Amino acid sequence: MQKLSIILVEDEPGDAGLIRYNLKFSGGEHDFHWVTSLEELDTHLRAMTAAPDVILLDLNLPDSSGLATVSRCKAMARETPIVVLTGHDDMDFSLQALEAGAQDYLIKNDIAAAALVRAIRYAMERHQLERRLQESEQLTMAAIEGGNLGIWEWNLKTDACYTSERLLNNLGFDADDETVPQTLAQWVVRAHPDDAASINLALERHVNGEEKRYQSEFRVKHKLGHWVWVFESGHLISWDAGGNPERVVGIQQDITSRKDMEEQLRNLAMHDPLTGLFNRRSFMEAMDSEYGRVKRSANYHTTILMLDIDYFKSVNDTYGHSAGDDILKAFAHTIADKLRENDVFGRLGGEEFAILLPDTGYDGGTHVAEKVRAVVEAMRVQSGEEVIGVTTSIGVALLSTDDKRPDGAIARADAALYRAKQSGRNRVEHDEGTTDAPTAPA
Ligand code: GH3
Ligand code: MG
Ligand code: MG
Repeated sequence: MQKLSIILVEDEPGDAGLIRYNLKFSGGEHDFHWVTSLEELDTHLRAMTAAPDVILLDLNLPDSSGLATVSRCKAMARETPIVVLTGHDDMDFSLQALEAGAQDYLIKNDIAAAALVRAIRYAMERHQLERRLQESEQLTMAAIEGGNLGIWEWNLKTDACYTSERLLNNLGFDADDETVPQTLAQWVVRAHPDDAASINLALERHVNGEEKRYQSEFRVKHKLGHWVWVFESGHLISWDAGGNPERVVGIQQDITSRKDMEEQLRNLAMHDPLTGLFNRRSFMEAMDSEYGRVKRSANYHTTILMLDIDYFKSVNDTYGHSAGDDILKAFAHTIADKLRENDVFGRLGGEEFAILLPDTGYDGGTHVAEKVRAVVEAMRVQSGEEVIGVTTSIGVALLSTDDKRPDGAIARADAALYRAKQSGRNRVEHDEGTTDAPTAPA
């Protein structure tokens, strides 16, 4: 049998002597330490490197009495079974002692060597079982909470991570794969660089007691190299003899399809389904943020173009509505091909489009407008048997800090567009207020 580490908390030297005597003649070898108060126990526990196997606890001490002694002792040594030594030979009291956290109790004047050691062994076994049951309950709970999930456990002392087979499979690993990360640090390296800090922060806040649970959503690299979105939730389940957090257990759920759907929904909400361009709402959002940028810096210019297809109604009337749709799509793609990546191209309504040209002055904007007009003029769209061409009129305006609202520039570009229509269509016209403005860099 392995040597037991036993602490006796007893203020009566006579009783202490009796216990020591009994232990000595019990046959086994013991690492025995005697303290006389809870305070002394606390000091001794802090000095120990490993939790003792058992604490034999007298309830009436100089600094504590009754059942409170059990709970206070329990708080000092969560990982250690407690055997209460009591003078009472009374069932109720012993039950209360067990409820308060003791694993067993012994009646003082009844102690025999064999019984004492048996009680100690029994207390240790029971304590271990209780702990395993508690842990398995916690594991089950965690799994139930999230559905059909991967399970992990993290040891704060060693940084070691246990990961269930399901969790590993989800990330492309076999359970016996030698490249499976073994520590939290190794796992965090697999997380997306933009997410790693928030994982660590969420863990830290839970371990520090600031948050009841650890929870986070992040991307982790699949063995094949692509990103998998996961949701994690977990909590502390054990502490060391000194009360320091030791292990966190939790679940991991693959939420990639949910994230994909969220992304699709965001895209649907932002884009026009026919052309794939930004819709009015997201175009206006882009206008808002450009307007902010223009306001903040005097040398920063942004130009807006408003476009309207010429005689589009007659295209619909002549070739049919679906041919009209084909033209709208071709119009969008043909122009988008000529724009820079930062330019924002939106369909504001029927056959009205707008282009925001960030960091582009008046001359540059005019140049782009002319290029767009020409590319549309040259465009030919095959729709069924027909080959159709259209032209577009364009109004140009500069985003201005004189506008009270960002859409002021839209109104001025619209007025210019109207003049382009009036002057014969297939033309570029400028906002009158901007024509004599100093030329901004293109
Ligand atoms: P103008 O040169 O003055 O702009 O003449 P227009 O014929 O283009 O004039 P108007 O703006 O009045 O006509 C727009 C037409 O665009 C009318 C409408 O039926 C058509 N339209 C609007 N949205 C769509 C669409 O999604 N698909 C198709 N095929 N046609 C559309
Ligand atoms: Mg039109
Ligand atoms: Mg129109």
